[in-house]
Amino acid sequence: MSTLFEFLPIGAYRTSASGKILRANAALVRMNGYDSEAALLAEVNEVGYQWYADPKRRQQFRDLLERDQLVIDFISEVHRNPVGDTIWVREAAHCVSNAQGELQYYEGTVEDITASHLAQLALVQNEERWKLALDSTGDGVWDWYVQTGVEYFSRRCKEIYGFAEGEIANRADALDGRTHPDDVAQMQRDREAHFNGEDDTYTNEHRILCKDGSWKWVLTRGMVISRDAHGEPLRMIGTHTDISARKNAEAQVWKQAHFDALTGLPNRRMLRHRLDNAIRHSQEHGEHLAILFIDLDHFKEVNDTLGHDGGDLLLVLAAQRIQNCLAADDTVARMGGDEFTVVLCNAGNSTHIKKAAQDILDSMATAFQIGSEQVFVSASVGVALYPQNATLVEELLKHADQALYVAKGAGRNRFSFFTPALQEAAVLRARLATELRQALPQQQFALVYQPIVHLRSGKVRKAEALLRWQHPQRGPVGPAQFIPIAESTGLIVEIGEWVFQQAASQVSQWQAAYGGDFQISVNKSPVQFHRRDTAQPSWSAYLQSMDLAGSSVAVEITEGLLLDTNSDVARQLEELRSCGIAISLDDFGTGYSSLTYLQKIAIDFIKIDQSFVRNLKPASTDLALCKAIIRMAHDLGMQVVAEGVETPEQRDLLVAADCDFGQGYWFARPMAVSAFEDFMVQSACE
Ligand code: C2E
Ligand code: MG
Ligand code: MG
Repeated sequence: MSTLFEFLPIGAYRTSASGKILRANAALVRMNGYDSEAALLAEVNEVGYQWYADPKRRQQFRDLLERDQLVIDFISEVHRNPVGDTIWVREAAHCVSNAQGELQYYEGTVEDITASHLAQLALVQNEERWKLALDSTGDGVWDWYVQTGVEYFSRRCKEIYGFAEGEIANRADALDGRTHPDDVAQMQRDREAHFNGEDDTYTNEHRILCKDGSWKWVLTRGMVISRDAHGEPLRMIGTHTDISARKNAEAQVWKQAHFDALTGLPNRRMLRHRLDNAIRHSQEHGEHLAILFIDLDHFKEVNDTLGHDGGDLLLVLAAQRIQNCLAADDTVARMGGDEFTVVLCNAGNSTHIKKAAQDILDSMATAFQIGSEQVFVSASVGVALYPQNATLVEELLKHADQALYVAKGAGRNRFSFFTPALQEAAVLRARLATELRQALPQQQFALVYQPIVHLRSGKVRKAEALLRWQHPQRGPVGPAQFIPIAESTGLIVEIGEWVFQQAASQVSQWQAAYGGDFQISVNKSPVQFHRRDTAQPSWSAYLQSMDLAGSSVAVEITEGLLLDTNSDVARQLEELRSCGIAISLDDFGTGYSSLTYLQKIAIDFIKIDQSFVRNLKPASTDLALCKAIIRMAHDLGMQVVAEGVETPEQRDLLVAADCDFGQGYWFARPMAVSAFEDFMVQSACE
């Protein structure tokens, strides 16, 4: 044996085929804990049993040698007999044969790799430990050999998707292949960003198809832990966290934020979103859109009569009917209350739009079955067109709203298209709203008085106070134009207070002139009941402070007010009446005339609306109606005023029908104070 053999820093040996050691170099002797080669050779006779910790290793070693004539990197645990411990060694060996090819002996090297091998084992154990730890937190662990495509999934990782051990192959595509098609691209982008170093870690949320066919949302996080010489990832490990609960909660929140809970329709926010998309789409394809604002007529009354559950059911049914009128591309959203908005796509021709609008109106025509009740409602629809009427969403919605306003004003149960004139009217309304704020402080208001004539005697013991606005630039603006604006801005509360106080001082003067039974009626808007100015004294207290009897004033209210069962309207009316103020029901017959309310609330006068009086002729329906109203009112202990009496024929028919009072141009127009006083002098002379 050469000196090289002797002085090799790693162990070297020669053994017989039977396992007897023939030679061992110094390094091997030392490695095995012996003092001399002789001691080693004397003691170790059967390597298989005496050296390898696992006796099978010797046979495996020989099998390899026989097969390949060569063994390399053969790693085993071996005994160090004199020391009594074990070490880890890496062996290489080959067969040495004679010229005839007969095996002479084995020759090989032994390297002590204990330190590095234990470190490696510790690492594996460590990994196992953290995999176990992660598994127990509910996260699944994956270990991916990027270049071979082999991937190990922990028990929990499989369990998340409903797979037992052995049901999923150790291949990357086993789970990747079950990723939701919509999520694949983003997952690949996120991986790439980590592979190329853009992101320190890999994170991605995606859906995976479970064994039972359902989808599960998972958050995956991972990191490349080794790379090849070119920097390409070799191995990556990471986790899967089941985030389905969070995703479902998020979806729920999103749904609540974008859909109406009652009808399930998109809400205002979602409509905006859809409309923005529809506009973008129509810009690209040159298509037209129509926006339909739909408002149920008199829904509030229905709601008050049926109760809120009934009202809710009606809305749900109405929503379904609207939806049934539309194509799949169209959107219907609930904007709140009884307001719906439709976005019609492909609205290039107006026949199509008109048909859709009419279909919606028609769909409301059949009765709604609400519990045991059959309820009828109608709808009003305002239409604005994109891009003809406006290109901005805000404008478009505003225009549809303006058109709706017109449909309502024109008598409801109809649709109306936006026109530029509407825009002008809307602009005027907005200006008037601003200017109306100045009207009271700048004393632009005045009251005129119209006599209310006792029909049989012709005597005037009452007058109605009617408000006039003398606009500094526009001239006189009629109440029909400014009262609705004052109502919608809330200014009516302040204005109404002024009207009352003005009328109170007028009646005080006229009672002095014409007698203590003279009465002025004042119109009071529903808004004044709902938004009462508590800083002001009550009307009864105010009259008292002026030494006036309650009966000096009558308050004219409209039918709509009586339907309001939710507010303390009834209490307020009762309060007025308790101090003698008369209650007069104005414009009777035009609203939601429900006779049952007449029994619930004490009313002194009913004012038959001028639309019935206008067409009074002998044997007409309107005469029949007037007669019926008068008879009913008398039966209930009320008196009747006929409004809009313009001809002596109308007056005669009303007298014959036993109507108590008449008011109208035939007697006198509404007049300023001095003209009214002249009128009173004249009528006293007649
Ligand atoms: P209203 O309370 O029904 O008042 C009667 C309206 O009919 C008055 O219109 C009056 O001028 C008009 N009129 C009277 N006789 C005849 C007639 O023979 N033929 C015709 N065609 N019309 C007649 P005006 O003054 O324009 O008031 C309109 C409405 O504005 C009133 O209807 C009332 O609802 C409201 N209003 C007027 N002043 C006030 C007010 O001070 N406060 C409130 N809240 N509303 C008011
Ligand atoms: Mg009135
Ligand atoms: Mg009236």
